[in-house]
Amino acid sequence: KAVSDDTLFRRSMQLSMEQQAWQKSSEGQKMLEFRRSLPAYKEKDAISNSISKNQVVIISGETGCGKTTQVPQFILESEINSMRGATCSIICTQPRRISAMSVSERIVIERGEKLGENVGYKVRLEGMKGKNTRLLFCTSGVLLRRLLVDRDLKGVTHIIMDEVHERGIDEDFLLTVMKELLPCRPELRLVLMSATINAEIFSSYFNGAPVIQIPGITHPVRTYFLENILESTGYSLTADNQIDDYGQVWKLNKQTSNKRKSHIASSVEEALGSADYSEYSQQTQDSLLCWNPNCINFNLIEYLLCNICENGKPGGILVFMTGWDDIISLKEKLQAHSVLGDPNRVLLLTCHGSMSSSEQRLIFEKVDDGVRKIVLATNIAETSITIDDLVFVIDCGKAKEASYDALNNTPCLLPSWISKVSAKQRRGRSGRVQPGECYHLYPQCVYDSFADFQLPKILRTPLQSLCLQIKSLNLGSISGFLSRALQSPDSLAVQNAVEYLKLIGALDEKENLTILGGYLAMLPMEPKHGKMLVMGAFLNCLDPILTIVAGLTVRDPFLAPLEIKELAEAAKAQFSHGFSDHLALVRAYNGWKVAERKRIGHKYCWKNFLSPQSMKAIDSLRREFQSVLKSIRLIDNKASSYNTYCYDENLVRAVICSGLYPGVCSVVHKDNSLSLKTMEDGQVSLHSKSVNARDFKIPYPWLVFNKKVKVNSVYLQDSTAVSDSTLLLFGGSISIGDVEGHMKMMGGYFEFFMEPSIAITYRTLKRELNELFQT
Ligand code: ADP
Ligand code: MG
Repeated sequence: KAVSDDTLFRRSMQLSMEQQAWQKSSEGQKMLEFRRSLPAYKEKDAISNSISKNQVVIISGETGCGKTTQVPQFILESEINSMRGATCSIICTQPRRISAMSVSERIVIERGEKLGENVGYKVRLEGMKGKNTRLLFCTSGVLLRRLLVDRDLKGVTHIIMDEVHERGIDEDFLLTVMKELLPCRPELRLVLMSATINAEIFSSYFNGAPVIQIPGITHPVRTYFLENILESTGYSLTADNQIDDYGQVWKLNKQTSNKRKSHIASSVEEALGSADYSEYSQQTQDSLLCWNPNCINFNLIEYLLCNICENGKPGGILVFMTGWDDIISLKEKLQAHSVLGDPNRVLLLTCHGSMSSSEQRLIFEKVDDGVRKIVLATNIAETSITIDDLVFVIDCGKAKEASYDALNNTPCLLPSWISKVSAKQRRGRSGRVQPGECYHLYPQCVYDSFADFQLPKILRTPLQSLCLQIKSLNLGSISGFLSRALQSPDSLAVQNAVEYLKLIGALDEKENLTILGGYLAMLPMEPKHGKMLVMGAFLNCLDPILTIVAGLTVRDPFLAPLEIKELAEAAKAQFSHGFSDHLALVRAYNGWKVAERKRIGHKYCWKNFLSPQSMKAIDSLRREFQSVLKSIRLIDNKASSYNTYCYDENLVRAVICSGLYPGVCSVVHKDNSLSLKTMEDGQVSLHSKSVNARDFKIPYPWLVFNKKVKVNSVYLQDSTAVSDSTLLLFGGSISIGDVEGHMKMMGGYFEFFMEPSIAITYRTLKRELNELFQT
């Protein structure tokens, strides 16, 4: 024992000696000085003391005060000083991949270390950690999956949950789990870090845990609302009494008496009187223009950007948009602009959740003198990250917010006004390293009407994955567990999720996890996609299924630029195969793989209207999925489960059906057209991008689909045609009972147990099965 104590002692000494050497260098001194200047640093002792005395501590403070980068280091340093450095294991969760990576990268710079040694990160697709990593940044999802295999978090000494005020579903779930775990692990410490607004909720949830408030933000941010932006241009904005279809009408009044009216005024006029409002301008008097709260005014953004580029001080600009579509439209508009589209003057970047992390990282790169960085981002840039040369923020005030209509059991994703907390976070992205400016593209009174904070995600999202995880962590009854959450979701939403899980065979009648459910809980994806992988592995046709699931996870690889939509659709039709968008994707991907090997992957994508980024993302996701499947022992290293080159198309169809059920619509041929119906929506249509939209002779009575969207009518985005027998056999809860016993290989594969309610005898099915599995 003495020996091991001694080794521990030496190891932690060695650590602090390395630390000391670097700290003595001028670079280290400068960094330390910077760290000491942060408001959080002044609370260092208070924080360390409080953590050693209390099991749960809440730390709240304004954006930029140093919570994310400093608090984890305080804990690490105090552990090192107390000689426990070698044995401590601190996990800090972040709501997003990009923040887990960029924060860990920042911290190693502050410490003069290398990533993956003392400090590392782990996110879904990648990680940098070693056996000596003591401070690990990860996403909340990664920690939740660790809980699956290590319920007590053995060896972990501290959990820090950052940005808990965001109230993501994983974070709320983790909090509930932690609340139950803490009494069993009295040594474990939990630190919650939050923006100032709702720290108290967490304190009361954890029995009055102490809240440490860190005062002060670092730099002032000059804030403009729409009326302030317009003021300098000789216009004023007033709300009209009139309320029409678009909601409140806003009028722009020209102040003719205003001497400051200049050339800018006319460009604003132009900006606000854009095509979107031409209807208005004609109706209203000449001097009046309108601001429409329902759409983002691209012209106004362009005007502001141009104005900053020409007249503003140096510094990067971050523009918050709602989603990929408007980011791309804006990007295209700006690229055509004489100043903003000039690569010698402007570096135009985008940042969106479905971009790969290496693409996302570009936003942190330094730019040359004289070049201005403009980043068009969604709200993923809202928290945690610091783009250090950023001075200006433009905020459209909206975000695509996921909501969930429990009554109709449909998830929706619509742009809506953000909360005050979000607006503040966005504003806080500037002024992190120097005084900043923030332009809110809406009037102050609209801001005043924002909710204080957003509804927690758990109240506005389908709960299937969450329910599955509750079951697999053995946390008792689903509704019982959720009633102990910080805020409990609607019981109808819970019921819908449980019913869905029963329907697909993940839970049995008594709500116990089935074997299939156990596998699904271990897979980091929606249950329907997980089920496809599980079935693909069992039925030895994993290769195409890996491609399909990866393809459904990334941005649609089939591009459809508006101007040449016809051409793009024709290009996709070339891959059309077996009346299935999913099989078309498999062909496109396999073709790309061959081209890639000949080093002409890019040309192949170009010719076929495919996104090279999506293709690469599919490629790396496939590898990731494979290693997850290996780690849960669904596949081994043998090639047999892949069936790479000569898979049975109908088998693949069956696997797709097993995953996508109950996303089914019936196909009825009428004269020269198709009539498609789903149970919940009635008549539906196919998205024009679907290969099935071009072919009216679908020889199957059913289509299974991954996604439907409601615009005017309901559109199915992608679909695969299936036969009666496939639907009967594979749709619903095929009970994958005991893998070894019941699931005897049948006809070389395995035997299914049908639900008794399906009124077809097993014998008939067996005949059809044989046809299906002709090999
Ligand atoms: P908080 O989590 O309280 O919002 P952070 O710990 O993220 O604050 O950041 C504290 C300060 O550290 C910031 O105000 C900024 O000055 C600096 N900082 C953080 N990340 C970086 C970075 N990547 N590059 C340069 N400075 C950074
Ligand atoms: Mg932070």
